[in-house]
Amino acid sequence: MTGKTHIIGGLVACQAADLFLFSTTSGFSYYAAGVAGALLPDICHTHSKIGRRFSVLSKVVATLFGHRTFTHSLLFLVAVNLVFLAFFPEHVAIQRGILIGMISHYFLDALTVRGIRFFYPADVRVRLTRMRTGGVGETFLLVGLVVCIGYLFVAF
Ligand SMILES: [Zn+2]
Repeated sequence: MTGKTHIIGGLVACQAADLFLFSTTSGFSYYAAGVAGALLPDICHTHSKIGRRFSVLSKVVATLFGHRTFTHSLLFLVAVNLVFLAFFPEHVAIQRGILIGMISHYFLDALTVRGIRFFYPADVRVRLTRMRTGGVGETFLLVGLVVCIGYLFVAF
């Protein structure tokens, strides 16, 4: 999926989790962390939004792991959250935002033809549909996500 779909998807996931899972009203830091978490897995792609911003790190990660492998896995999700809990245990809202954002990223990429290797290093590809990145299906999905964000904002 493209960066803008991940950003909107991360915001929808954070908003839904905030309303239905955590039953809190989190602030800006939670949603900002959600957007960061929604973009973080694509650090393995040098042309992604986050890959362009952190180009050296992105090249290293891309060289070591390739695209949609380690950074799109359960292992990376757990590692990022353990590191965050070890160094910033008092920032629960930010940790939750990153977690929800990353999960939304994994789900959205799993909808694409390429899928993700969620169980990396195991060579198992998780693919829920065969949507093309940047294709018509993604455009419809993006419109749906924008409608969702509007609905969740107005209805709750
Ligand atoms: Zn991705």
